[in-house]
Amino acid sequence: MNSPVTIIGAGLGGLTLARVLHVHGIPVTVHEAEASPTARTQGGMLDIHDETGRPALEAAGLGEQFRALVLAGGEATRVVAPDGTVLFDEPDDGSGGRPEVQRGELRRMLLDSLPDGTVRWGHKVTGVRALGGGRHEVTFADGDTAVTTLLIGADGAWSRVRALLSGARPEYVGTSFVETYLHDGDTRHPATARAVGSGALFALTPGAGIVAHRERGGTLHSYVALTRPQEWFAPIGTGNTATATALVAAEFDGWAPELTALITDSDTAPVVRPITTLPASGYRWDRVPGVTLLGDAAHLMAPSGDGANLAMLDGAELGRAIAAHPGDVEAALTAYEQALFPAAPRPRRRGPSSSTPATAPTHRTASSTSSPRWVRTDESRPSPTLTIPARGGTADDRPLPRPRPGEDAMSGTTETTTTGSDAPEAAEAVAERVLAATLGAFDVLACYLGDRLGWYRVLAEAGPLSPGELADRSGTDPRYAREWLEQQAASGFLTVVGDGADSTVVGDGDGADSTEPRRFGLGPGVAEVMTATDSVNFLAPLTRFVGAAAVQLPALGAAYRSGGGVSWAQFGPDARTGQADMNRPWYEHRLADALAGVPDLHRHLDRPGAAIADLGCGEGWSTIALARAYPGATVHGVDPDPPSTAAAAGHAVAAGQTERVTFRTGDAATALPEAAYDAVFAFECLHDLPHPVEFLTSARRALRPGGVVVVMDEAAEDTFRAPAGDVERLLYGFSTMLCLPDAMSHEPSAATGTVIRESTVRDYAARAGLTDVEVLPIEDFGFWRFYRMRPR
Ligand SMILES: Cc1cc2nc3c(=O)[nH]c(=O)nc-3n(C[C@H](O)[C@H](O)[C@H](O)COP(=O)(O)OP(=O)(O)OC[C@H]3O[C@@H](n4cnc5c(N)ncnc54)[C@H](O)[C@@H]3O)c2cc1C
Repeated sequence: MNSPVTIIGAGLGGLTLARVLHVHGIPVTVHEAEASPTARTQGGMLDIHDETGRPALEAAGLGEQFRALVLAGGEATRVVAPDGTVLFDEPDDGSGGRPEVQRGELRRMLLDSLPDGTVRWGHKVTGVRALGGGRHEVTFADGDTAVTTLLIGADGAWSRVRALLSGARPEYVGTSFVETYLHDGDTRHPATARAVGSGALFALTPGAGIVAHRERGGTLHSYVALTRPQEWFAPIGTGNTATATALVAAEFDGWAPELTALITDSDTAPVVRPITTLPASGYRWDRVPGVTLLGDAAHLMAPSGDGANLAMLDGAELGRAIAAHPGDVEAALTAYEQALFPAAPRPRRRGPSSSTPATAPTHRTASSTSSPRWVRTDESRPSPTLTIPARGGTADDRPLPRPRPGEDAMSGTTETTTTGSDAPEAAEAVAERVLAATLGAFDVLACYLGDRLGWYRVLAEAGPLSPGELADRSGTDPRYAREWLEQQAASGFLTVVGDGADSTVVGDGDGADSTEPRRFGLGPGVAEVMTATDSVNFLAPLTRFVGAAAVQLPALGAAYRSGGGVSWAQFGPDARTGQADMNRPWYEHRLADALAGVPDLHRHLDRPGAAIADLGCGEGWSTIALARAYPGATVHGVDPDPPSTAAAAGHAVAAGQTERVTFRTGDAATALPEAAYDAVFAFECLHDLPHPVEFLTSARRALRPGGVVVVMDEAAEDTFRAPAGDVERLLYGFSTMLCLPDAMSHEPSAATGTVIRESTVRDYAARAGLTDVEVLPIEDFGFWRFYRMRPR
């Protein structure tokens, strides 16, 4: 199928673009993953901004129709304290200039304005690739493909099209919204309906808040905001509504009942919406012929009342640019992107509001570009709870004093004025940060002990246990078991079950006393994260890296002084099994699909008789996964570490993969046969190698004609940036403690370190004669990026 203008995503941005193109007589096809226009509730109220959303709708010729959708009274704003006291109340007198509409009705209006068949529903994009000359091929989940000369990614936060332009991926900002609905509020929940009023209600405290809106028909729609790690929300969405509701409601203990009813009386099961943003590097890209992005795909930001408005404005501006440059796609895209890209690396606000502070709490939370901060800028209004210090005076969930990815590091947010390093608040903030990090470090080390001593496994298998019972079952000391259990419960990993006596009173809790001992069970989600070896959430191995580094701190200090190294062998089994066990679920559950998403590579590997090498195979999980994915292939794993290849051979036997899988101990840089393989893989090892260029040269020579080298390595940002996002910080953590010291233990060594940027990979490949390098459109794959390399 060929289509001149191909839009991926029928959200507000994609549909506005489609409509503006239609108005200009330009044919267009929109491919949408959802099965139908009604497949999903479209979310709540949107306030349409004079400088962004409204001109976009005018450009679409829908100004009149839009005005008919506006909800009277919707602009009213009320701020209340947790006890229900009204702190600020502003009715909608019609002069607010930010009319409220329901998102679903707005989308319906846009859909109805397009010719039948414009949107192809149930057409989920699974892959995109450049064909050259500005043409792109799009592959859909049903196997269909489309080739286009103009591809527009309007496919939201987790855009597939973005991979053609940027390696940026959304990052969690630390806060999630839990969405609830009370239908027919005036009749069934009159006290809560009165509290919400005719528009929006804000009840905000540090780390926890409720934002509710009145929608058409008296529906009370809430976003309950909680600043918690993503795993905290795991029990929500497991199907047990009562448990999920109780979990959220417990965070609002003591709040006024008319507010907590927004959680406890929800007519729908709570739904978690993790808030993510793109790092600053995601906001710009080099011009690539024939493709661009709009809306969240281009500049995902935390909810600030701008996202949908900007998506529509993008759609309108792109549509106009295309119409203004008939037959010249590149001129159109250049004009569009020049207006799109911000001067600074943050999402832009266009129009008059860009230089003036917002005059009301927007939609209605914050004006930050990243983590919701529950702050507002209008000094003329009371600011009771919105500029918030820490919850309950504790440091446990205070935001760290660093800008989040995407935030302007120089100026902070609009509200956070940099006061200089000698300001007392700065030292206090750093002290809080160090305290929070220390708590985290102790948690990780305690998790390490729980993993290595088998305590989590025993608790997962045997249920709540007293210290004595845990010690008995694991062959450990009861006094230490008690301290660890209490530490884990104090930190929220374990729950105290029943009302057993204090274990300090009943000794080791072995049941000898008449008093029942206190028992401890795993908290929600802990069993999966700490014991489920086949889950991609299995993070116990991550703690082993920290344990391995901690043991070697004296050696690391010495190496840092002398320029020496600490070898992988020195880091020992904790590092080796940490690496293997951490990556295993990704290979076992995600690799086959990821490779199948790159059709030509998949066809290449899927040929009968294909020979594949897996260099740096470690304990062999990637090798075994390749063999399973490609039943016609033989796969040879090579690794220089004898304990790793020994373990790999054992894993192949256990997996029943001895026919087509072999392992060999050796240095791939020197010990590969020439012209022997159709594909050579290197999973997350290039950055560790002392001789990466020699390694890739050897891999190139080992290729049969038409063969490819596939490297999976860290998805580091394009350039160094400080402060950086969490992924980058994690990579630097590995680099300082493990990978760089290991690389430096060889002499000579490239000493790459874990933070291997795309430019470095390309440089190594070019020097190895692999000059045709392409980043594969494989997303959602851990912290990794895939490169395909070929000699030209
Ligand atoms: C809780 C919350 C509250 C918000 N409140 C506001 C607000 O009050 N005001 C405001 O302006 N903004 C708000 N936003 C932001 C706003 O929702 C987004 O910025 C806006 O929806 C972006 O529009 P879009 O068209 O770019 O993407 P989306 O609305 O995300 O649309 C993308 C479309 O692409 C489709 N798609 C995705 N992947 C594929 C694929 N592989 N193949 C085919 N189709 C695909 C999706 O199904 C979807 O239909 C809020 C966001 C959140 C999370």
